[in-house]
Amino acid sequence: MQVDKYLQTLQLSDETLMDVSIRFRREMDKGLCRDTNPTAAVRMLPTFVLSTPDGTEQGEFLALDLGGANFRVLLVKVMADGEQKVEMENQIYDIPEHLMRGSGTELFDHIADCLANFLEKLGIKDKKLPLGFTFSFPCQQTKLDESVLLSWTKAFKSSGVEGKDVVSLLRKSIKKRGDFDVDILAVINDTVGTMMTCGYDDHLCEIGLIVGTGTNACYMEQMRNIELLDADEGRMCVNTEWGAFGDDGTLEDLRTDIDREIDAGSLNPGKQLFEKMISGMYMGELVRLILVRMTREQLLFQAKTTAELLTTGSFKTSYIYGIDNENNEEGLASAEKVLRGLNLDPSVEDCIATQRVCQIVSTRAAHLCAATLVAVLRQIRDNKAAEKLRTTIGVDGSVYKNHPEFSRRLHKMVRRLVPDCDVRFLQSQCGSGKGAAMVTAVAYRLAAQNAE
Ligand code: BGC
Ligand code: MG
Repeated sequence: MQVDKYLQTLQLSDETLMDVSIRFRREMDKGLCRDTNPTAAVRMLPTFVLSTPDGTEQGEFLALDLGGANFRVLLVKVMADGEQKVEMENQIYDIPEHLMRGSGTELFDHIADCLANFLEKLGIKDKKLPLGFTFSFPCQQTKLDESVLLSWTKAFKSSGVEGKDVVSLLRKSIKKRGDFDVDILAVINDTVGTMMTCGYDDHLCEIGLIVGTGTNACYMEQMRNIELLDADEGRMCVNTEWGAFGDDGTLEDLRTDIDREIDAGSLNPGKQLFEKMISGMYMGELVRLILVRMTREQLLFQAKTTAELLTTGSFKTSYIYGIDNENNEEGLASAEKVLRGLNLDPSVEDCIATQRVCQIVSTRAAHLCAATLVAVLRQIRDNKAAEKLRTTIGVDGSVYKNHPEFSRRLHKMVRRLVPDCDVRFLQSQCGSGKGAAMVTAVAYRLAAQNAE
């Protein structure tokens, strides 16, 4: 098909994917080693999360979840009596765009306002509950409850937060209100929350994966391999921040003109280059830019663009979920509807071509994710000196959950690239928020043990 030829550079062979996997493994090493860490694109950040839940945690915990598709406040009850059980209340709050890219103080004041509203609604404003904060951005941690933002990613760009400890900022905003108090015990990444939530149900879970607005993964690493920390015993969860893979030029041969165009028009040019090839924030826009180019080159829509097609963001990632459907009839009908919505007058061939573009873009995303995931799997297998690794990956994120073919393509490629690993993918429910409560519960249990 003409589209296939046009988009050849987006279709990666198994050999290329294996090569990407090997490159990523090298980047992981670079981030883990003391000498090379300062210049590593893939940060491999220590999280200070030492163990997955053991089932003895209990209590009532608050959690905040910021940085995914929604901002959420949660109350999580963890019960240890006999059967493990978790109950929760949660509420989604809006973060207006001007707060995502305005002053940091206003953003954190807004978070404190939402928390106050939540506590009031549940009638628990007078309780000082332990709180875990899922903050899904790259952060440098020196302990569980201190987390310095390295750089904003995705749609956030509030001023005065980079280089600051987000726990202090949140405490300040809460104190300023003066009408309630909480005990902030932990800050975690959403990947860590996902791993912890799944780890509660499956003790073999040692990887957390997110493919949503952004993409990233964490895993349990041997302490001795984390050279930045002196301790050598046991394991700690490492947040890879793989979205930044390629920021030092490692992926230049695989990035296309379209990838460069997306990057140039983004909030953070030159950053998160791997993420921009994969995640939900960019997938629809990749498709749109390809359609525009193909129209201009007289391959689509009788060479006629429309104002809608030329508008940034007009091709939503969620459209792909409808179009890239194994059921061709439905997929094509969906393509026609979307294209008409963009004021185009598509022929059947246009609809077929659009469907193929969606397929190629999202398959590349799934396969690139598989390549980096495989590097993590091999690292864990080598750490255990296991011949055959049996492990579980906790997964969350809008693309993984809502794209009808993404997960299947990802799983298939992972199994093809590491046939000697027995991998279970476990989808987490509300994992990033619940996981913050789990980490807080562990921290709380350990603090109580230490006080005894
Ligand atoms: C952030 C990660 C996060 C991922 C998924 C990326 O943009 O840098 O910290 O885990 O998005 O939300
Ligand atoms: Mg060490």
